[in-house]
Amino acid sequence: MSLFDISERAQQYQSDLLEFMDSHIYPSEAVYDEQMREAGDPHFHPPILEDLKTEARKRGLWNLFHPHPEWGPGLSNLEYAPLAEIMGRSHLASEACNCSAPDTGNMEVFTLFGTDEHKERYLKPLLDGKIRSAFAMTEPAVASSDATNVEMSMLRDGDDYVLNGRKWFASNGMHRNCKVLIVMGKTDPDAAVHRQQSMMVVPIDAPGVTVRRNLSVFGYQDREGHAEIDFQDVRVPSKDVLKGEGEGFAISQARLGPGRIHHCMRAIGMAERALELLCRRAESRVTFGKPVSANANIRDWIAEARIDIEMIRLLTMKAAYLMDTVGNKAARTEIAAIKVAAPNIALKIVDRAIQVHGGGGVTDDFPLAMAWAHLRTLRLADGPDEVHKRAIASQELRKYRKATEQ
Ligand SMILES: Cc1cc2nc3c(=O)[nH]c(=O)nc-3n(C[C@H](O)[C@H](O)[C@H](O)COP(=O)(O)OP(=O)(O)OC[C@H]3O[C@@H](n4cnc5c(N)ncnc54)[C@H](O)[C@@H]3O)c2cc1C
Repeated sequence: MSLFDISERAQQYQSDLLEFMDSHIYPSEAVYDEQMREAGDPHFHPPILEDLKTEARKRGLWNLFHPHPEWGPGLSNLEYAPLAEIMGRSHLASEACNCSAPDTGNMEVFTLFGTDEHKERYLKPLLDGKIRSAFAMTEPAVASSDATNVEMSMLRDGDDYVLNGRKWFASNGMHRNCKVLIVMGKTDPDAAVHRQQSMMVVPIDAPGVTVRRNLSVFGYQDREGHAEIDFQDVRVPSKDVLKGEGEGFAISQARLGPGRIHHCMRAIGMAERALELLCRRAESRVTFGKPVSANANIRDWIAEARIDIEMIRLLTMKAAYLMDTVGNKAARTEIAAIKVAAPNIALKIVDRAIQVHGGGGVTDDFPLAMAWAHLRTLRLADGPDEVHKRAIASQELRKYRKATEQ
C-alpha cells in the first residue's frame, strides 16, 4: 500500500520488472562477469547485454523513463520512481531496459529541443537502444560545479561554430555504441552570465574530436567509461545548436532535474540490495557461538538502515510528486535535498554491508565494493553535495530576508 496514488498500469510494470530481475537480470550477473573477464577489455560490449535488451523489449520493459507517450509508456516521475529503484538493484538492469544515464537525459533534451533531423538521426536510434550518447560539460581546467565557469570556446564562423577546448568525465564516452555528444561551451563571453553558454550536438567521430583516455573511478575502468575529450577546430553547423544560441544554461537546468532524481531512485535500490545482503550474511555466519545478526550493534545497523531507506524513499517520492504536479523548477529544493541525502545514506548502508561481509565485502565476489565506488561518485556527479546544500540554504534563508534584499 503506497501513500501516493500509483496507477494500476504502473503497479503492473513493477511486478513485471521484479519478475524480470529474478528470472533474467540477477542470473546474468555472473555471465556478464565471465564475458568481461574473457574479453580482457574494460570497454567490451558483452553479448549478454544484447540478450537482456531483447528480452526486456519483448516484455515491454523498455524506455520506462520516457515521460512522453509517443516514445515510452508515458509514466509520471512518481510512477517511474519504484521502477528505477528496482533497476538500481543491479548494474545490468538500466542498460537492459534502455534507461541508463546519461542517455535518458540526452533523450529528453533531443525530445524537447532537437530538430526533426536530430530526432531521426539520434533520438530514434537511442530509443531503439542501437546507439549511446554522452554529455560533455565538465572541464579539467575550471571548477565546473559552477557551470558558468565552463570555458570551451564556440566561435561563430559563417554558418558554422568552431569549437576548441577540453572536456572530461563525459560518461558513456568509451561505450562501443557511443555515437553522439551533447557539448556545452561559451558562444558569447560578453553576454549576461547565464546567456553566455550554448549546447551543441556533435558526432563523436567529427573531425577534430579526439577521445584521449578513460578516467578510472577508484581504480575501476567503468565499461561505459568517463572520457577525456579534446576538441580542436571542430566545425558544428548552426542547425546543431540546441534551442538557439545562449540557451545552454537553461537546457542544462531542464536536463539535470529528472536525471538527478533518477540517480537517487537507483541509489535506493542499491541500498535495499545492500541491506538484503547484509541481513543474509549476518544470519548465515557464526562467531563466538552465535550468529553475527545476534549482536546488538548489527541489529542497530539493520534497524537504522530500514529507517533511513524509508526516509529517503519518501523524500524521493515527494520530489517526484512535486515534479509531476508543480514542475521541476518549483521542486528544485526537494530535488537538491534528495540528491544529497540518497547517495550519502546509501553509502552508509553499503559500507556497513561491506563490514558485515568481512574481507569478502571489498572483493568483486559481492556487488558491494562496486556499488560503493559508484555511489561515492554520485556525491560529485550532477553537482557536488556542497553546491546542492548551497541552493537549499539560499531557499531557506530567503524566508528570513526582507523583500528588498532578495
Ligand atoms: C563518475 C563521474 C561521472 C561524471 N559524469 C559526467 C558527465 O557525464 N558529464 C559531465 O559534464 N560531467 C560529469 N561529471 C563531472 C561532475 O559533474 C563534476 O565533477 C562536478 O560537477 C564537480 O565539478 P568539478 O569536478 O570541476 O569540481 P570543482 O567545481 O572544482 O569543485 C570541487 C569541490 O569544491 C567544493 N565546492 C564547490 N563549490 C562549493 C561551494 N559553493 N561551497 C562549498 N564547497 C564547494 C565541492 O566539494 C566540490 O566537490 C562526472 C563526475 C564523476 C565523478
